[in-house]
Amino acid sequence: MIDVAVIGAGTAGLTAAVYAVRAGVTVKVFEKSMYGGQLGNTSEIENFPGITKISGPDLAAQMYDWSQAHSVEVVFEEIISVDFSASGYKKIITSGGEYYAKAVIIAAGVERRKLAVSGEERLSGRGVSYCATCDGAFFKDKTVAVVGGGSSALEESEYLANICKKVYLIHRRDKFRGEKALAESVIRNPKIEIIYNAKVIAINGESSVENIDISSDHGRSSISLSAVFVSIGMEPKNGAFGGVLVDESGFIVADEDCRTNIEGVFVAGDARTKSVRQIVTAAADGAVSGKFAAEFAIREGEMQ
Ligand code: NAP
Repeated sequence: MIDVAVIGAGTAGLTAAVYAVRAGVTVKVFEKSMYGGQLGNTSEIENFPGITKISGPDLAAQMYDWSQAHSVEVVFEEIISVDFSASGYKKIITSGGEYYAKAVIIAAGVERRKLAVSGEERLSGRGVSYCATCDGAFFKDKTVAVVGGGSSALEESEYLANICKKVYLIHRRDKFRGEKALAESVIRNPKIEIIYNAKVIAINGESSVENIDISSDHGRSSISLSAVFVSIGMEPKNGAFGGVLVDESGFIVADEDCRTNIEGVFVAGDARTKSVRQIVTAAADGAVSGKFAAEFAIREGEMQ
């Protein structure tokens, strides 16, 4: 039996694993795709303490190397289901097998929200993208649009402006939700045209994106472009964790110590209820949950 199973190898999960290993327990981290979580979708990070500037993928690689230096085992398997009903152990079923753990830390993170308009799903991967750092290079010297008004949309617009001929930033309100410094920089950027108070109502094209229909104060119109980067926030990936209490948006309810409503099950990072979702707060959750999950596993071990 594993002492502490960590679900997700993003900032929160890797930090939790390192803290738990250093507390002297056995740890396995389960990750379905790539380590780093949302770091992989982030172009430049300027607000992680002690680091002036770093790309998201570079910070992810450094965190992974750091976890490996502490002998954290990362298992690249997808979580299919969990059973937290038994006392004394938690069962985890993955694409690769069945595992038992004394304590579990859910650090499954979030995924990009969809626009849910006509053409979005059909043209996904053919001009519709949810990650400018992953797909931006395919649209060098082309015209593209970013949809959204948060820090991610602002960052992605700037990132794409360095690669593309022109970037439309389409936001449904007349004020940005994202960081003020980012918004000011985007407003100053001559390659970015901001369209306020507008909604994308359809994404069109035969085999790839050719144009979009938008509805704004000026009525309906169409914009010719090659790609649409949807950057309208995040949704939790907590579907597999039945029995764990979630709020109305699907985020797992947790206390200050990252404890959920189930004894021995903790939650860290973007997957949990919190008001500030940042790399630094994910790392903080990792430290807290790693410490308390390790303590829980040690107590369970003493009782068995
Ligand atoms: P976010 O802050 O939740 O912003 C989502 C944006 O998308 C909002 O402007 C929202 O509009 C818009 N939106 C939501 N649903 C929409 C829909 N159906 N159609 C059109 N627009 C829609 O999300 P985010 O930018 O991905 O950021 C997520 C978290 O990461 C935030 O906590 C953010 O602070 C953090 N983050 C921080 C940094 C940084 O510090 N440098 C960088 C990236 C992300 P409304 O404004 O009208 O609601």
